Amino acid sequence: MMDYEKIKAGVQLLLEGIGEDVGREGLLETPDRIARMCQEIYGGLYEDPVVHLKKQFSVERNDMVIEKDITFYSVCEHHLLPFYGKAHIGYLPNGKVVGLSKLARTVDVFARRPQIQEKMTAQIARALEENLNPQGVIVMLEAEHTCMTMRGIKKPGSKTVTMVTTGVFQDNYELQNRFLGMVKQG
Ligand code: ZN
Repeated sequence: MMDYEKIKAGVQLLLEGIGEDVGREGLLETPDRIARMCQEIYGGLYEDPVVHLKKQFSVERNDMVIEKDITFYSVCEHHLLPFYGKAHIGYLPNGKVVGLSKLARTVDVFARRPQIQEKMTAQIARALEENLNPQGVIVMLEAEHTCMTMRGIKKPGSKTVTMVTTGVFQDNYELQNRFLGMVKQG
């Protein structure tokens, strides 16, 4: 469970640390507001993707399944600043598939934590691998990191792209290219 009092105290200290007047009207409710917001943006820490992935359907043909352009918002664990973008997921089933909305839910479980994009990409792939036992998984994330755009090297519009492949996708460039082609198609 989250400790709201600790979050509130922490936010208050941060504001005091930067020299703000925590008693002024605009900031009075801020610690409480942020504490409540944390449940929404970090609540994935208390969720297990298994919940979403355990309901499966049998299929006769193991054709590639792709769910693309899944919008996500996460928070970089190094700066606690947002990074956001699109997740694209593909897998080659092994007799079983999950509902498409469950892939988006799985992305959300991992996005709503302090994160780094590389780890998040791998976590999504592993969750599918472990719960669906497919022939292979490919996960690609494209995101803008505000810790690179509003601070640091300040390069708005730059995107970080990460990709993780498992099983048949690992060395099969034809399969990878088919996935990438489908993702890029309008
Ligand atoms: Zn960062």
